[in-house]
Amino acid sequence: SITDALAARQGAQRSTADLAATRLPGRRHYDVLVVGAGFAGAVMAERMARGSGKTVLVIDKRDHIAGNAYDHHDDAGILVHRYGPHIFHTNSGDILDYLTRFTGWIPYEHRVLAAVDDQLVPMPINRTTLNMLYGLNLQDDEAAAEYLRSVAVDVGDIRNSRDTVVSQVGEDLYARFFEGYTRKQWGVDPSQLDKSVAARVPARTSCDDRYFTDRYQCMPDKGYTAMFSAMLDHPSIEVMTGQGYADLPMELSWDHVVWTGPIDEYFHHRLGRLPYRSLRFEHETLDCAQAQPVAVVNYPDYDTPYTRITEYKHLTGQQAARTSITREYPADEGDPYYPIPNPAAQDMYRQYSRLAGDCENVTFVGRLATYRYYNMDQIVGQALATWRRLDARWRLDALA
Ligand code: FAD
Repeated sequence: SITDALAARQGAQRSTADLAATRLPGRRHYDVLVVGAGFAGAVMAERMARGSGKTVLVIDKRDHIAGNAYDHHDDAGILVHRYGPHIFHTNSGDILDYLTRFTGWIPYEHRVLAAVDDQLVPMPINRTTLNMLYGLNLQDDEAAAEYLRSVAVDVGDIRNSRDTVVSQVGEDLYARFFEGYTRKQWGVDPSQLDKSVAARVPARTSCDDRYFTDRYQCMPDKGYTAMFSAMLDHPSIEVMTGQGYADLPMELSWDHVVWTGPIDEYFHHRLGRLPYRSLRFEHETLDCAQAQPVAVVNYPDYDTPYTRITEYKHLTGQQAARTSITREYPADEGDPYYPIPNPAAQDMYRQYSRLAGDCENVTFVGRLATYRYYNMDQIVGQALATWRRLDARWRLDALA
């Protein structure tokens, strides 16, 4: 079984001394095995090869590199994102500079509209949204703030997601924008969700309709997969796609593992399975040049089964006679995308994290290994910081 194969493989990882014994003639040995070729794995591999002079084998069970950021040209020649739209945004000049070694950029500011009552209105809610929905003429920030104060509900103690939203924007905006969307996205009513989930959904009093407010907002000029190819293009890096950890050929050996897969999988789910919410993506090419006015339109009502539609040409600036879109359907089953924000899951993660702390020759990095939703720039930052610590340790070991 997979569990047995994992146990056997990880048994072989117990200590560097054990590993040295497995370096027999005919075996291929690497300094580091990186499991997962997403942002976490690719940044670690790149730094360990170029920065630390290590030999690195990168594997990914999917048939491609770039993890969830993977993009490719579909049958109509349109550059699409297989796992939902990925928009790069960061406040960190250092992270942008690092990635700029591997790609050029095109400027792109993300805008999202929500389909509410036969209108397309700006999302997050801003002054324009209020004016359009309620036929108002709010002229400045103060007028919009006063309007939101007038509809906000005093709920007393904020205990859940519903309380968070209602206390900021009132019952009507909650019902139109958040209730159905949250029930679809998480499969539960907002009143049963941790208050932290809605804390990230602000309402603005300005007319700023950019989805992100970060200092740097851009897209890789040739796409994410091309950027990952450049990162991994080094004589000391070997990449095997379509290759899971559990069924790696036995003739391979390594000294250190960088694990960017699910942390509970590494430990054979021995404390239980960490719960995730998943997504099903429905891709379609349409016989028209443009399908919608912006890259993403949200469908917050409960009756529409998908949460949003993405049209990629807005993101990439590509010109073509046809256009490709993706509908996103939240799901219980499927690839792990969003960690479930409840105390039991967090507690289980903390226990796994303690087990991870005892693994001397394994480094856990990335969104699945740390069981938390992170944006791409945060994962790049996490991986760079992790590599620096590891590199410093290796340098000290070399001196000893
Ligand atoms: P991943 O990209 O998931 O890479 C992990 C890799 O490990 C996967 O390819 C997986 O196949 C592989 N793997 C796992 N287990 C094994 C195993 N046992 N053996 C071999 N391989 C294995 N961030 C933004 O900044 N902007 C956005 O617009 C944005 N949009 C998003 C939209 C959606 C729908 C989702 C779900 C996320 C979005 N994100 C966005 C977040 C972004 O996807 C993550 O920050 C990023 O993917 C994290 O990189 P990672 O390397 O940690 O994980």
